[in-house]
Amino acid sequence: MTAIWNLASLEDRRYPALQSSLDVDVAIIGGGVTGLSTALRLLEKRKKVAVLEARQVGKGSTGNSTGNLYATVSQGLRRVRATWDDDTVREVVAARAAALDDIEERVLRYSIDCQFSRRPLYSCLPDPDDRQQRDLEAEYEASLLGGLHAKLVDGVAGLPVPVQRALFLEHQAQYNPLRYVQELASVVADQGGQVFEHTAVLDVDAGEGEVSTRSGTVTAPHIVFATHTPKGVNLLQAEMEPSREYGVAASLRGESHPEGIFWLLDDFHSVRTYRYQDQTYLVVIGEKHQTGQGEAGDGCYGNLESYAREHFDVGTFSHWWSAQQYKSADQLPYIGRSAHDNIYVATGFGADGLAWGEVAARNICSLIETGHESSRLFNPRRFTPLKSAKSWAALNAKVAKHLTTDYFTLDKVEDLDLVLAGEGKVVNIDGDKVAVYRAPDNTLIALSPVCPHMKCAVRWNAADLSWDCPCHGSRFATDGSVIEGPAYGPLTRLEVR
Ligand SMILES: Cc1cc2nc3c(=O)[nH]c(=O)nc-3n(C[C@H](O)[C@H](O)[C@H](O)COP(=O)(O)OP(=O)(O)OC[C@H]3O[C@@H](n4cnc5c(N)ncnc54)[C@H](O)[C@@H]3O)c2cc1C
Repeated sequence: MTAIWNLASLEDRRYPALQSSLDVDVAIIGGGVTGLSTALRLLEKRKKVAVLEARQVGKGSTGNSTGNLYATVSQGLRRVRATWDDDTVREVVAARAAALDDIEERVLRYSIDCQFSRRPLYSCLPDPDDRQQRDLEAEYEASLLGGLHAKLVDGVAGLPVPVQRALFLEHQAQYNPLRYVQELASVVADQGGQVFEHTAVLDVDAGEGEVSTRSGTVTAPHIVFATHTPKGVNLLQAEMEPSREYGVAASLRGESHPEGIFWLLDDFHSVRTYRYQDQTYLVVIGEKHQTGQGEAGDGCYGNLESYAREHFDVGTFSHWWSAQQYKSADQLPYIGRSAHDNIYVATGFGADGLAWGEVAARNICSLIETGHESSRLFNPRRFTPLKSAKSWAALNAKVAKHLTTDYFTLDKVEDLDLVLAGEGKVVNIDGDKVAVYRAPDNTLIALSPVCPHMKCAVRWNAADLSWDCPCHGSRFATDGSVIEGPAYGPLTRLEVR
């Protein structure tokens, strides 16, 4: 399963694993858009920087996103307005619009070849009822309030999906997100930054300013968690809901294709095109569900393919992928100092992190440089019970349920033979629960189903063949190794005789 962006991936630009111990000004954990944008800004301020990436640069959520850049937010500015106030809407749009400008300026300055283009964004209502019409009107008002060039239009020319009414925002943007981040890593390395791949951080000692990996320690007065969600146990995890979303891409037939960001507000599908060499591809994203609820998830890709075929003249499907997002309880991301003054976090981006990552880079750089935040709005230490109480309560009731009952009540089979090749199941073996995966060659891999992060029970994800924790979004490969999320360590390997 790989994202369409890998067609243009710079696979020959690789970075070494950390092999010794280092002293730097800033240790950045995570080589996605947040980590590398932060690294470049700090280098421009003459800081000595090391980026430590557990796997490969750009191959986290960034390289599996849709590559859309917009000054609005996908949940809707009207929701930000309802939860906060008019000034917050203005500040959110200003911060995100500045991020788009910064990305554009950087693409030009460093000649970054990532197909960055300014494009319109359409939020489309295929067949609106009264409530959807009112919501679109409210979104239009909030967009104008934020200073966006917004229009309400009837229909969208060139888009084969029937649309009755749409909100049009001009001068947004698109790029290939994987290529952008890979190019950023090259610029960071050229400017004297140190980039390490296959270097998983196993622990952070805030008091000592030490970041430990298997092959060395990085000591730094400032440490940035650009890991999408902070690693280890962090109070912010109780405020964020992790979810997964899927993507497919297929070649498009015909000559003329719509260009722009298209959000179809049916069940929610995000649609765009991508041109690689002489071929135009259609990209369709959707089928979102909470992480850990994907037991029957292998239907997600099929549903997206059916949607694409129903509306577009597509040829062969070539790419299938998925990614994770973390939604904050009060609509705004958490960017800035964590519980420790020398530890910085950037998380809670929802589905809008390509621009929030850039906002985070600006804010964290300013904090490190001057000690002052460029915006207090996103402060991770904010306390907003009136704005977040409802989602916080629902989220944590769900987590409490998973913590207290899942281990005993999860659907379990009693017989290993019921785990078919390519399947994972929690099996009851002599009274113990075991997460069992049967590989296509019939080998059994047995793991403890208890997530090492906070002891919730993991669940099988049939779409991505992984074990996913429904509480805080940690995900594990079939061999138990960490794919993403807050857990530092793997699921414990068990022996089944
Ligand atoms: C399907 C989907 C589509 C999306 N589309 C868009 C879009 O069009 N526009 C938009 O703005 N946003 C989009 N988003 C959201 C966006 O992808 C993310 O918010 C953004 O990529 C987050 O970037 P990041 O750098 O913070 O995290 P990541 O890109 O996930 O990078 C974090 C990195 O940290 C590394 N890491 C983790 N743990 C460790 C460790 N222990 N040691 C070292 N490294 C570690 C990971 O390997 C990873 O590479 C989408 C999200 C989804 C789910």
